[in-house]
Amino acid sequence: MDITLTKSQIQQAVQDAYNECKDIKGGANANYIPYLANIDSNLFGISVTLLDGTVINVGDTEYKFGIESVSKVLTAILVLKQYGAQAVLEKIGADATGLPFNSIFAILLENDHPSTPLVNAGAITACSMVAPKGDSWGKWEAIINNIASLCGSPAQVIDELYKSESETNFNNRSIAWLLKNYNRIYDDVDMSLDLYTRQCSVGITSHQLSVCAGTIANGGVNPVTKENVFERELAPKITTLISSVGFYQNTGDWMYTSGIPAKSGVGGGVLGVYPGVMGIAAFAPPLDGAGNSVKAQAAVKSVMKKLGLGVFNGDCVKVES
Ligand code: GLN
Repeated sequence: MDITLTKSQIQQAVQDAYNECKDIKGGANANYIPYLANIDSNLFGISVTLLDGTVINVGDTEYKFGIESVSKVLTAILVLKQYGAQAVLEKIGADATGLPFNSIFAILLENDHPSTPLVNAGAITACSMVAPKGDSWGKWEAIINNIASLCGSPAQVIDELYKSESETNFNNRSIAWLLKNYNRIYDDVDMSLDLYTRQCSVGITSHQLSVCAGTIANGGVNPVTKENVFERELAPKITTLISSVGFYQNTGDWMYTSGIPAKSGVGGGVLGVYPGVMGIAAFAPPLDGAGNSVKAQAAVKSVMKKLGLGVFNGDCVKVES
């Protein structure tokens, strides 16, 4: 079926989804990172970026929250750019774990393989791969500049969040050293873990995340800045990773009920990619048991439903400009 949407229909759907979801209760802020536990639980925003560069924002869309695990998508793109799809498959993997994001068990089960760059283990490995090897500052520059290019505007670390995470990341330290044991850390271990912790502590807005999602949906060309951030052939690779593990052990249920590949972070952000059509992001701090924002999930699902969209529906979707 052909579906033609107007911008005002999309604007209306985002506004309606916001109204419908804003009073949803349930979930709790991440409490294992002290900074996140203290964020206002009522913050809520939805942003959509269309491929002509239009950004639709409703709610707290300029609030800078911790990007957390959504950053895994952006750094996966960086290592895909630097090494290519085959090397990422060999050095990290592209499989779902079916287990929580911070699982040590998953590393053991997968025969020492980090599985995917979108869980903690694979993301720490991805940070270890970022070029230039051995140069902590150069690697960080590559990571933060890549975030700015994908999001269409610069982002900075929230110092208090970085401190909070660094002081409490004992599980991630275990993951990093276990991976080192299996020769899956390709640079200094402490440096790789620190880069991962720092990228998770970057402050980002739902507006920026929707532009990043729009860049992936647009085959690597940022729809707002028009910068060609990555090769078109990498877009389906990154969307595949997102659709297989974006919500960890809940990913299958998410894909089954939402119709859009999406990735969450414990800061409350969700980034969704509808290839060839739009990027969407939502943000609200309270999380479900798998660490996915309750309200942001509801909001993205609601927008998809109101627009009658689903990536597996087989429809040809156009947005009138
Ligand atoms: N920095 C967090 C961690 O490593 C990110 C987890 C997440 O967002 N799911 O635990």
